[in-house]
Amino acid sequence: MLKIQNIDKLSGIDTPFYYYDMDLLQETVSRIRALSEKHGIKAHYAIKANSDPRILRLISAEGLGADCVSGYEVQRAAECGFAPSEIIFAGVGKTDSEIITSLEIGIGCFNVESLPELEVISSIAEKRGVKAPVALRINPNIDAHTHKYITTGLEENKFGISEFEFQKAVDFLKSHAETLDFKGLQFHIGSQITDVENVFKLECERVSEIVATFEAMGVTIKNIDLGGGLGIDYEHPDEGKVADFDTLFGTIAKYLQHRPDQQVHIEPGRAIVAQCGSLISRVVFVKDGQKKSFLILDAGMNDLIRPALYDAYHFIENISSPDGPSAVYDVVGPVCESSDVWGEQRELAESHRGDLVAIRSAGAYGAVMASNYNLRPFAKSVYSDELK
Ligand SMILES: *Cc1c(COP(=O)(O)O)cnc(C)c1O
Repeated sequence: MLKIQNIDKLSGIDTPFYYYDMDLLQETVSRIRALSEKHGIKAHYAIKANSDPRILRLISAEGLGADCVSGYEVQRAAECGFAPSEIIFAGVGKTDSEIITSLEIGIGCFNVESLPELEVISSIAEKRGVKAPVALRINPNIDAHTHKYITTGLEENKFGISEFEFQKAVDFLKSHAETLDFKGLQFHIGSQITDVENVFKLECERVSEIVATFEAMGVTIKNIDLGGGLGIDYEHPDEGKVADFDTLFGTIAKYLQHRPDQQVHIEPGRAIVAQCGSLISRVVFVKDGQKKSFLILDAGMNDLIRPALYDAYHFIENISSPDGPSAVYDVVGPVCESSDVWGEQRELAESHRGDLVAIRSAGAYGAVMASNYNLRPFAKSVYSDELK
């Protein structure tokens, strides 16, 4: 069960709110730091998973870099303690103003996703008399049939530069060495990958081949970035609270072929922050139907959209009276959409109006995707260390 120290201090706080276990976040980030040092692999936190300033400050203080997908995220990362040189900027639709802002901040690298983007960054850098650090995001075209979670690494997908464009990209980089400082290659094959060893082994093998292909075309690959995607256990949030970074780092160290002068990077998002966050909600009504009972919460899809958007599973528990007999409910939110459902036929402790319920593993892609739909306000954040 979710353990909240001094839970009575929560009684005055309006629900729903996000609760962040800062000790668990610290433990997770410390583990990454130790593995980074052991294997010589740098980690950049994908801040789109959760861009809460307190969370960012804790992560930046441990020396991780930031992986951003908008100019706003680049600015936020710089404000929250990430060294500009440790900020990388990915994304398929970078606007001129986002590119200019990032050049002014002095970020470490643009991960470029298309040839037109390469041309635009080069011409903006030329006008400003600077050299832009760039890496190419490569679409590795790994077969989706190999694994259902590999969803962004296929050629029909909008992300990255595909094999038929490699030569053109290399020619452009060679002819624009005055404006573009070529750093290397970046990959990102998908998300919520739980078959860690098999999937990342496959990625490492493919990446090793592609790196060799580029070097054979006469460019030096200094950085190899394998992206994010490490999954977490949504069904058992209290087991293995720290995601399996040991296997991720170990697999990369074992299967990625690279020279000592090539720096390897990863960009985990979800796996760093998901388990430290819970959405805490109150039972508004228990509604007994003829066929089933509904638990109606004051948290809705506007607070956490993953279940409505992709049928995602989140573990749900009653944290006010966890020890009573159990009952089965359809747990739903208050929003006027039939997809505003937290879970159907869920077994949890018998619940009453006013009880607090925790929707677990909500630290990633939760608060950042919230909206004001139905004019509902944004849920506040509560941090465990404020309750001590
Ligand atoms: C979203 C994203 C990540 C992080 O993915 P997770 O599944 O949260 O680890 C990393 N890199 C890029 C380029 C991304 O778009």
